[in-house]
Amino acid sequence: MKHAPLQPIKEKIMKVLVIDDNEINRKSARDTLEGHDLTIADSMSAGGLAMFHAKKNLPFEAVLTDMNMPREEEGELAAYGFIIALMAVQYGAKYIAMVTRKGGHDDKKDAMAEALSSLGPWHYTNKQRLNINGARVMFVYAPTTSEATGEGSCPSCSGSGTCKYCDGTGIFVDEDRRQDNCHVCHNSQGGCHRCKGEGKVKIYGKDWGRVLSDLIAP
Ligand SMILES: [Zn+2]
Ligand SMILES: [Zn+2]
Repeated sequence: MKHAPLQPIKEKIMKVLVIDDNEINRKSARDTLEGHDLTIADSMSAGGLAMFHAKKNLPFEAVLTDMNMPREEEGELAAYGFIIALMAVQYGAKYIAMVTRKGGHDDKKDAMAEALSSLGPWHYTNKQRLNINGARVMFVYAPTTSEATGEGSCPSCSGSGTCKYCDGTGIFVDEDRRQDNCHVCHNSQGGCHRCKGEGKVKIYGKDWGRVLSDLIAP
């Protein structure tokens, strides 16, 4: 098998729980898992509670979770996704995935996200499926949707749209007070090079639909 289908599988409606503290990823869950019997939670506790209540009548068939989340609605982020994945095994889910962004980009290194590369390649793969007590489980880096999920503040200029290297002047002054044209924004004339002065960038959420397709594929 070369590539798994990118479209969510519509033929089989599954009872699916998605847990992610980021609204963009919750929105991409609604987009890419449309048609399934979908429950969405935003913290470890909310996800655990949903599994607990579902168990009484019909457990979730699939549980897809983020890695770094707060325990309650607000609070310190930790790699609770691992715990949720194991809880899901206990609660009888057959298809389980923990899906996280790669660590180490931008300013903050995420040691646990980087450690995931010990389990599989340093990119999303549909090959890494573990068998935990009869459940199929993946701990993987997130594939992102092919279409933008939404717009967000530009991380390079914090939404100001101004080149942060020259304060929007287009002129860069070095330590010896020598002036030169700003090399960062020379194509955008003082505007942020990343968002071209717009202050906003397109944001791509996690492609949960693809993850589920790959989980249930034979
Ligand atoms: Zn910008
Ligand atoms: Zn500049």
